[in-house]
Amino acid sequence: MNLQKKISLLGATGSIGDSTLSVIREHPDLFQVISLTCYSSVEKLCELVREFKPQKVCVHSMNEARHVREAFPELEVHSGPEGLIRVAEDPETETLVAGIVGSAGLFPTYAAVSSGKNVALANKEPLVMAGRLFLEEASKTGANILPTDSEHNAIFQVLDGRSQKNIKKLVLTASGGPFRDLPLEQFSQIRLEDSLRHPNWKMGNKITIDSATMMNKGLEVIEARWLFEMPVENIEVIVHRESIVHSMVEFSDGSILAQLGLPDMRIPISYCLGWPERLELDLPQLDLTQVGSLNFSKVESERYPCLDLAIEAARLDRSVPAVLNGANEAVVESYLIGHLRFVDIANLLETVMSGFYSLYQKPDCPEYLKNIHSLEDAVRADQWGRDEAQRLLLKRDAA
Ligand code: NAD
Ligand code: MG
Repeated sequence: MNLQKKISLLGATGSIGDSTLSVIREHPDLFQVISLTCYSSVEKLCELVREFKPQKVCVHSMNEARHVREAFPELEVHSGPEGLIRVAEDPETETLVAGIVGSAGLFPTYAAVSSGKNVALANKEPLVMAGRLFLEEASKTGANILPTDSEHNAIFQVLDGRSQKNIKKLVLTASGGPFRDLPLEQFSQIRLEDSLRHPNWKMGNKITIDSATMMNKGLEVIEARWLFEMPVENIEVIVHRESIVHSMVEFSDGSILAQLGLPDMRIPISYCLGWPERLELDLPQLDLTQVGSLNFSKVESERYPCLDLAIEAARLDRSVPAVLNGANEAVVESYLIGHLRFVDIANLLETVMSGFYSLYQKPDCPEYLKNIHSLEDAVRADQWGRDEAQRLLLKRDAA
């Protein structure tokens, strides 16, 4: 009998993909890769097909699909957003790792939840856009959403089935990113390559920029709000520069429990892949005597205006997080191709959100900008934020 757990991996060629496959490589007896997907780096995907021998893949375009089919005649090859959904809902899969970046993961991740799988959720943007719908669907289908983002995984490990009713607050730790010590007057000179140099984590470009602005932590507050069904007021963000304490839970008796570990995504990923068992992992040992001291401090708001934007969106809920998410993806994309200065990211997002808030008050505000009733509403709200950001970007270029 084959006792290997059957795994599908969305976003196999990215950073979460690398870490996931590295855990699987260590445990060939425990896991079988059923499908792999990618958007870019098809050559890398082909190498992974040779190594992991999945049954199915999904690539971006039909052209690429043809090329992959020629190289691997036995392989089932899908393409595009439809193909991702086919892969995600495949009944063969037991655990799906959601490692696509951004809103592109919305439909396939939801399809995995709809088909009742264990979903190791790294891709936070879908939950930001449509958290309530994900929760409702998971409770209908019995899908387990396994928190894979390191902070949420820390809380998941701490709770380990404990009752959530005695929780006073969740404390998310943030490294502070590459500019935590930079004098504020030097922010206007930040270069793209400096913002891509995270002090503690090696990740994809979008999340690395989100970490530098702390939009990432804001998105994580929204993510935590859904994953642990916790009011936003009971979620605190603190700076912890060593990235050793991955997050904490404060209980009603004043006890605080934390999860500690090296900043390495293989740890939370292996916890989700192995869940409910814990796996062995061949990593360097965390030697706290070498680390010496662990520091914690308050977040300086003026350094991280994006965090406040996201917390405000989290408080207002409804379609606000989706609008902010779309705007942020558009602005970060533009920043990554060198069209903006670092400080423009927050400025542009503030302008988009203040335009949105004035529309939000008006009687003719479209319903999808007031509330999210369906995934399509979430996409339209996200698209509104994206379009508004792009309109402002074009206006700047024209000026
Ligand atoms: P990445 O950019 O390294 O990889 C993204 C993957 O998604 C790649 O395989 C890419 O080909 C694929 N992809 C990109 N656009 C796509 C599209 N339109 N359609 C289909 N596939 C697409 O990103 P990452 O750092 O691995 O992050 C993935 C997700 O996990 C993000 O949501 C991020 O916030 C979250 N996350 C990442 C880390 C980390 O350490 N990298 C930690 C916590 C959470
Ligand atoms: Mg995180």
